[in-house]
Amino acid sequence: MTRLKDKAAVVTGSTSGIGLGIARALAQAGCNIMLNGFGEPAAIESERAQIKKDFGVRTAFSPADMTKPAEIAAMIDATAQEFGSVDILVNNAGIQHTAPVEKFPIERWDAVIAIDLSASFHTIRAALPHMARRNWGRIINIASAHGLVASVEKVAYVAAKHGVLGVTKVVALETAKTGITCNAICPGWVLTPLVQKQIEARAVREKIPVEQAKTELLAEKQPSQEFATPEQIGAVAVFLCSESAAQIRGAALSVDGAWTAQ
Ligand code: NAD
Repeated sequence: MTRLKDKAAVVTGSTSGIGLGIARALAQAGCNIMLNGFGEPAAIESERAQIKKDFGVRTAFSPADMTKPAEIAAMIDATAQEFGSVDILVNNAGIQHTAPVEKFPIERWDAVIAIDLSASFHTIRAALPHMARRNWGRIINIASAHGLVASVEKVAYVAAKHGVLGVTKVVALETAKTGITCNAICPGWVLTPLVQKQIEARAVREKIPVEQAKTELLAEKQPSQEFATPEQIGAVAVFLCSESAAQIRGAALSVDGAWTAQ
């Protein structure tokens, strides 16, 4: 197993879904973890305590809102304060909204771009000086199959995720001669609350049972017809943090059941 003992990792949006899977995988590899995201305080505290108990690492939580640059900077500072460094940054927080372009609410466009794209700029900007100090760092941006190809009714999400791949490439170039790498993971469908909402909306729209909506959602895009799991995405993140991955730079790694192979 990759040993990342005592590395300090910030995982945005790690109170749920893929982010929680990545936080747990990094903790299993030995990282101290700064959790972040929204949710019930008691549920978040329980996840934090569970990670500490399961893996014997140090854990903390930042409630920073990824739409607020000052809160993002405070989260990065708090990580350095708490753990003595910021070694690994996973930009995972994300939201979705679906509507045709002409009906897409301006406020939803702004929110998706802020959380799914601009937050990565703000976190990376704040974290890089900490990584540079030790000449070691791993930046992992959770993009999407929608960073590589488009779907209807997802204009803000597709624009944001394509943008994340642009950010990834620029940061990889700017850090190319250092011990810091920056890459993106592009998941296809992963069964998380974000996707469950889309499945339920599909069931209502098409007047079909939820199970059928789930099967149809997969059949439409993901040739494997199986969901990827947060644990699988977590394992890819741990690999990107390993020394074996030191020359993977500026890459977009698909974990999408062949979605984008078509
Ligand atoms: P999720 O809804 O389960 O989790 C999203 C997380 O982001 C939660 O912890 C939530 O609290 C947090 N969050 C939302 N708004 C925030 C804000 N303003 N500030 C801080 N945290 C905030 O979703 P998920 O499916 O686990 O998605 C995680 C990431 O993976 C997203 O970037 C998403 O676009 C991406 N992704 C998901 C899928 C999928 O199929 N689930 C596929 C490709 C990419």
